[in-house]
Amino acid sequence: MNLLDLFQKKKPIISFEIFPPKLDTPIESIFSTLEQFKELKPDFISVTYGAGGSAKDRTIEIASKIKNEYGIESMAHLTCVGHSKDEIDTLLKAIAEHNLENVLALRGDPPANQPDFDFSKNAFQYANELIAHIRSKNDFCIAAAAYVEGHADSKRLKDDLFHLKQKVDTGVDFLVTQLFFDNRIYYDFLDKTSSIGITCPITPGIMPIFKADQIKRITSLCGASLPAKLVIMMDKYGDNDDDMRKAGIEYASNQIRDLIDNGVDGIHLLTMNRPKSTKEILINTGLIR
Ligand code: FAD
Repeated sequence: MNLLDLFQKKKPIISFEIFPPKLDTPIESIFSTLEQFKELKPDFISVTYGAGGSAKDRTIEIASKIKNEYGIESMAHLTCVGHSKDEIDTLLKAIAEHNLENVLALRGDPPANQPDFDFSKNAFQYANELIAHIRSKNDFCIAAAAYVEGHADSKRLKDDLFHLKQKVDTGVDFLVTQLFFDNRIYYDFLDKTSSIGITCPITPGIMPIFKADQIKRITSLCGASLPAKLVIMMDKYGDNDDDMRKAGIEYASNQIRDLIDNGVDGIHLLTMNRPKSTKEILINTGLIR
């Protein structure tokens, strides 16, 4: 199913993000996890691309399994960094051949240890160029990334918003945001996107915190700010994994309750491949019984 159709029919759309197992782990290891996610009846599951390096080849295979065997709609992430046009076309062909209809089209980050990587030498320099290319060849539903606090490469949020509008106008059906921990930033972002004429659904990305060091690593990579409430929580529970996990689930549940009360288009849960914690959050927020 084309996910834009789903966003037009239902609110909120509940989606999970998972990542493929690394190449030194059998791909089958994700299947028992997927069995458990299936029980939670998400509207769709998205599968990241390139996480952990070479496991990127597994994205389409897992997205296909989710859709064609588990009967849950899926979305394959696709980054264009370091790929030639032919390589992208081969991937797009594989996506279509696996009966997949939804793609999250991304630029991607510089390869590890290459901070001076020159994106201008890429076949597609920015995500909007990849999106234009996909649009010219396929009728996939195309999603793209949005950054409520601005992308790290942008000097000003205003510049990032300008490029986001350009990207949406190229042919984006819906946006998925980078994770954030303060809902007010997301609501302000919705006001700003609406004021520049972005009208597509913008589903918020929510990541529950399971470990204090996990959150420091992730926020240092994506630049999400940590509200004082969260810092206090990490100081209080950071040394005890079990208490930290419970507090992280409570924090994410509160965020989600508030988002739903404010009529969001969807909730995109960054599950970290953890069905048990995901289930607890869905129960806490009344999304499942
Ligand atoms: P773009 O939209 O191209 O933007 C990148 C930067 O360039 C921004 O600062 C933007 O303002 C600027 N820009 C855009 N267009 C122009 C232009 N025409 N001229 C000048 N500047 C411009 N990474 C992975 O490797 N695998 C994944 O599976 C993955 N999934 C993600 C899912 C979500 C929901 C999000 C939010 C991010 C994900 N990422 C993933 C990370 C993403 O690849 C990085 O954040 C990357 O740095 C930017 O990708 P983008 O598609 O947002 O880039």
